[in-house]
Amino acid sequence: MATVNQACTNSIWLISRGRHPILRLLRDVLPPNLPASLNSLQDEFLWKNSPSSEAGDFSSSKTWDFLHPVGQSFNWTKPIWFKERIPRHTFILWMAMRDRLFTRDKLRSWGLNVPSSCLLCDAYPESKSHLLTDCIYSREIWTGFFRRSGLSPPVSLEEIVVWSDSLSPQRKVNTNCKILVQAIVYCLWRDRNSRLHSSNSKPPHVLSKEIQTILRAKHRHQGVIPLHLVLSFQFVISLWLVAAAIVVVAYRFFWFLVGGSFVFPLFGVF
Ligand SMILES: [Zn+2]
Repeated sequence: MATVNQACTNSIWLISRGRHPILRLLRDVLPPNLPASLNSLQDEFLWKNSPSSEAGDFSSSKTWDFLHPVGQSFNWTKPIWFKERIPRHTFILWMAMRDRLFTRDKLRSWGLNVPSSCLLCDAYPESKSHLLTDCIYSREIWTGFFRRSGLSPPVSLEEIVVWSDSLSPQRKVNTNCKILVQAIVYCLWRDRNSRLHSSNSKPPHVLSKEIQTILRAKHRHQGVIPLHLVLSFQFVISLWLVAAAIVVVAYRFFWFLVGGSFVFPLFGVF
């Protein structure tokens, strides 16, 4: 292994003038002025975990943090990723919140020659906010669900998501509300795609019924033990009861044969 002393001569670094990236990097990072006195002491490796840190020991965590800086945090992250969520619903809502749904305004901004009109109402240009909250079709779905409870959700999707997590001090209420919000967004997006690919269009009350069915199925699933577990538990219990009954009857019959009464205390003294 070469020492610093061997890498320089007459106060000049012995580095090729080639254009290789490594050589260019070395020329950039090495100090232009050599130390006044070089000696033959053992060289020591020092590591800068970031451009602003002091040279010292290598730290994998600090290097990782520098290479992968923490992104912006959003207040809608927690309301989206909760335990009882329906994964495909959560995924579509997450795509919407990250503005990753391929709505027509986005496709046109990429130069694609597609119509601009909303697939749900055919009256206004399609964008994420229009499609999922502002459209007269979507608005009817939203208000249809929350009007019955006397609730009026905010206007924008971001505000609705945050609002759904702070609706009540009871966690269960908020969970149901979050499941509903995700189901609405998912079904609106699915119906929009259905109109695009198969020209099938559903009136708002039909879509609302479908959302209600999804919610009922979800609640049923959460409240009932799966049938196969119930059956297996019942089978084991039945087996034990039958075995116990056989033992008791055989025991009493034996006692009867040896001259005792057929009715006797089960754990009597012989
Ligand atoms: Zn519309």
